[in-house]
Amino acid sequence: MNIFSSLLGMIRVSRSLTTTLASILLVTAGAFSQTSYAQTPSGTATVLIGARLFDGTGNTLIEQSTLVIRNGRIETVGAMSDVTVPDDAIHIDLSGKTILPGLINAHGHLNEDRSERPIRTKLAEQLRLYADYGVTTVVVLGVFSDEELVEAANLNDEQEQIALDRARIYVAGDSLQNLGTAEEARMRVNRYADAGANIVKIHITGSPNDMTPEVYGALIDQAHSRGLRVASHLFYLDDAHGLLDAGVDVIAHSVRDQAVDDSLIAKIIQQNVPYIPTLTRDLAQFVYESTPDFFEDPFFLRRVNAYREDIDLVSGADYQMQSRSPQRQAVKAALEQGSQNLKTLSDAGVVIAMGSDSGTNQGQWQGYFEHTELEMMVEAGMSTTQALVAATGGAARAMRLDQHLGVLQPGRWADLLILDANPIDDIRATRQIHSVWIAGNQLDNVP
Ligand SMILES: [Zn+2]
Repeated sequence: MNIFSSLLGMIRVSRSLTTTLASILLVTAGAFSQTSYAQTPSGTATVLIGARLFDGTGNTLIEQSTLVIRNGRIETVGAMSDVTVPDDAIHIDLSGKTILPGLINAHGHLNEDRSERPIRTKLAEQLRLYADYGVTTVVVLGVFSDEELVEAANLNDEQEQIALDRARIYVAGDSLQNLGTAEEARMRVNRYADAGANIVKIHITGSPNDMTPEVYGALIDQAHSRGLRVASHLFYLDDAHGLLDAGVDVIAHSVRDQAVDDSLIAKIIQQNVPYIPTLTRDLAQFVYESTPDFFEDPFFLRRVNAYREDIDLVSGADYQMQSRSPQRQAVKAALEQGSQNLKTLSDAGVVIAMGSDSGTNQGQWQGYFEHTELEMMVEAGMSTTQALVAATGGAARAMRLDQHLGVLQPGRWADLLILDANPIDDIRATRQIHSVWIAGNQLDNVP
């Protein structure tokens, strides 16, 4: 055990104290939480009446629904004619709107800008940015420092105890790559498990420095023994086969070098491994060869202040030049292949989870790109219903969160994206946000 891992251990132990202190601070900072956050008194029911409702499972829409929320969770949900409204309820008429579960980004990232602000502040701010776009849960598949893991795990720890005004977070440690030995792999898994990681992320890129199947096999085995699942970055079909043979739990990017074969499809189905296409990751590799149209999209511009620094960077002549390099341009073909594979796997009945890989490189917009991802999934041939399931109930199943999130059923958190239009008719309707709700509270000041 090195000094750092024991430090992580100490921070982990003291976390419950930190959470207590944070709660005290929240109480004493009541004025702040009042202005930034609409609160329902605990115990009182809120009833959302009259909206069209998509429950996240792929079931037919309920055209006129009643959704009863109490203590942050869904108490009852169904057709207006079937649900009895409790006497004590606050009624909200949502006729003409569409309610969906809040979107889940099954593969996102947070990052640290170069400012001197506390890491926690930076991370929480990005979770709020996601939430402003209706993304109410983000699975962070890889942090960029051990300090980030500690803070992200703290944010995860406290999220069910506080009035949440940001997206929920689940987190992996640093994406593990190029480890030389099984011992090292097991040690790293232990370190991240001790630090509070919810999942393990690995990187297999097709490079000669990649972990061998023996090493990632040991890593996956160790993660399972610690109760953690393993999600893998990959590109090549051969690596997908190797990873599935070693028991990987989640495929976190598209296979992009060739068409998926029948034997891969059979393994994915048999092992019930979800697949996260991350199409926008590839888009971002070349789309800044010129100024993309979406820079004019009012839905992109609503949080332009958060994006400003990156917009300036990717709009620069140097960046445009890099985007035109043969390497970056080759990603166009990879994206085409990835889109075809998505359609094949979706048709085969694989669990697809929406994930954007936003927040990694410049120009992968947290919040906005999840909506672009949905649109690209539909362009790849998925139905609007399939794409929306992938971003809600499918992503929740993929991440083993479906007992709590992703579907509008009794007992689940009332994390909601309410729209002014129907996204089953047109996937771009996810951009017409009426309001965003987390644990039964409507977020204030959503632009
Ligand atoms: Zn990633």
